[in-house]
Amino acid sequence: MTAQMAGDRRSELAENLAGVRARIAAACAVAGRAADEVTLIAITKMFPAADVALLAGLGVTDFGENRDQEASPKIAEAKVRGVLARWHFVGQLQVNKSGSVVSYADVVHSVDRRRLVRALGAHAVSAGRLITCLVQVNLDQAAAVGAHAQAKEGARGGTLPAEVPGLADAIAGTQGLVLGGVMAVAPLGRPAGPAFSLLRQVAETMRADHPSATMISAGMSGDLDEAISEGATHVRVGTALLGGRQSFVR
Ligand SMILES: *Cc1c(COP(=O)(O)O)cnc(C)c1O
Repeated sequence: MTAQMAGDRRSELAENLAGVRARIAAACAVAGRAADEVTLIAITKMFPAADVALLAGLGVTDFGENRDQEASPKIAEAKVRGVLARWHFVGQLQVNKSGSVVSYADVVHSVDRRRLVRALGAHAVSAGRLITCLVQVNLDQAAAVGAHAQAKEGARGGTLPAEVPGLADAIAGTQGLVLGGVMAVAPLGRPAGPAFSLLRQVAETMRADHPSATMISAGMSGDLDEAISEGATHVRVGTALLGGRQSFVR
């Protein structure tokens, strides 16, 4: 890559970042919240470590990835480039990848079953790390209605709202793990607002039992404004920052 190309990419990312920061500030203003209550997580999946370094240079502190096999080498390369960032793992996580994820992630957003809690805890203890875990909530009401719908939606991950308290207690009671709060992806083809409102209720219930679990990870490029109006503390933004990526099946 030439210096000219890197400079062009840097200006493009700077412009996108300014746009996203302006959207966050506007949504916070409408909701009567301070803009610094919301942390921007740049989701860099399908984009190279060079982009991570450019965004870090522009002041982004938090980054997220959704697949271990992509995240692991990219984060190692970002470190070699001098990037000091907080890393968030936001994708569906297989138990057998939890050791690898614990080695680089500070926050795991996609904790949705007890086996994963046990595996993450065991790896965190042996690595001497403390991992913040969010309970991923499945906001698709249809999933609660029938097993068929649940099987269809199952690929997106997340536990049903009724199961959240038990999982939260399990995380809070596991050595090496810290319960951070909740995470969700808005249901496909449905308005995001009511779904994020449900997430906020789930988060409030969790906070009643676990006062320090204050994180609400919700909102992506298309719906971060609605998420912020429903109390999101962390927004996960890929496309609006980095541009379009080729879609692929997870
Ligand atoms: C890819 C991804 C995002 C970012 O999505 P955009 O629409 O590109 O902003 C957020 N959250 C998760 C879990 C993702 O996999």
